[in-house]
Amino acid sequence: MKFINLENNIKARLHQSIVKESNIKQIFDLVFENKGISRIEISRITNLSRSTVSLLMDELMGAGLIRMIGERASGSSGRKPIGLEINGERAQIITLSLRKDNYHYILYDIRGGELEKFSYRIVYKKGCAAKIWNTLKSRSSCLDETRLLAVCVSIPAKINKAEKSINLSILDTDEDFDLLKELKSMCPQIPLTMVNQSSARAYAEYKYVYGGKNGDIIYFNIDDGVGAGIMVNGRLFTGEIGHMSIDPKGPLCVCGKRGCLENLISKTAVIREFAARAGEHKNGLLHTLSGGNPGRINYRIIREALEQGDLEVMAAARDIAEKIALGISNVICMFDPEKIVVGGNILELGGTFLSMILARVEIPGINGVCTDSSSQIVGGGIAHDAENLGVLRFFLDRIFTISVETENTIYLGD
Ligand SMILES: [Zn+2]
Repeated sequence: MKFINLENNIKARLHQSIVKESNIKQIFDLVFENKGISRIEISRITNLSRSTVSLLMDELMGAGLIRMIGERASGSSGRKPIGLEINGERAQIITLSLRKDNYHYILYDIRGGELEKFSYRIVYKKGCAAKIWNTLKSRSSCLDETRLLAVCVSIPAKINKAEKSINLSILDTDEDFDLLKELKSMCPQIPLTMVNQSSARAYAEYKYVYGGKNGDIIYFNIDDGVGAGIMVNGRLFTGEIGHMSIDPKGPLCVCGKRGCLENLISKTAVIREFAARAGEHKNGLLHTLSGGNPGRINYRIIREALEQGDLEVMAAARDIAEKIALGISNVICMFDPEKIVVGGNILELGGTFLSMILARVEIPGINGVCTDSSSQIVGGGIAHDAENLGVLRFFLDRIFTISVETENTIYLGD
């Protein structure tokens, strides 16, 4: 089936100029955030003249992105304002969150409404993108290729924007395997947006939890790997925080240094630590909960042991919480952001563990630097699908500026 390149189609209808682009985006965003808003209200909020709003609105409606939803009641007599909304059916956006051995797919409409989702196992090797694509097509009940506007991918790896490549990934790939090229070949005519996983989560938190307004945020992503998404003055950056060393005598990391956070607090490291303790204490709760097999220990079992208040497990958890707290303190020393959000699958360890982290950060003498800081440290506010939501919103927020890039451009997030 031949794709209709919707983005080019929309692009052709929206004559580009920077001022116009920013005005159009402003109008699109207002309708996106305020279903039922009228042209008059848009004009009032944006300070654009009514005729400019009407002209740009005609273009957005001509491209099928916005539609009318009927007259609204108004307090005064005379013409009633006509409410507007994003035309959700116009376009679909595929989002993929790539994980260590699986991917999480969510299909959204252009309003950000979730159409369907599922996860599937994957081995990152040659031909995997074709496999993903075939799985999506065969398992999906609502993916419509003719309405596909973009493919947005979040990846737990550093993205080199200049070289358009991916480095130092926790994804287990063959050495000469070019994942980026693979993904681009999946739907060659559809723009590919790729954002680092920590950055995608930071962006989702910033936009959905804090309404895009709450100052600077550093999202400390403690997951299969460790990274940071940094929002400063509305701009998104990725921090390679996982390779910040907190122990020069610690275990050797793949990057060549010792004691990197990734080696000490990533999911693999945390489970390894608890499994070792369970192996040492054969009468302990962890050993019992794992059915006598420390190899079976996972976050659910550790959480259960923590909730039961097992002293042995609490002590081990405090050690890990302290390492996380050291990492957070270092970040505060560098940036002193208004908010540090702790997120990633580490939150599966539950509220008891999060409280331990917060308590360790606040202890003067250990991490005394924080006592003078005004940084607020909180747990992530989005329980599920944060990176899919983040990469979707990242794309939607750039829908008109991304379109100035040439066809087949791989758009790499900041
Ligand atoms: Zn390292």
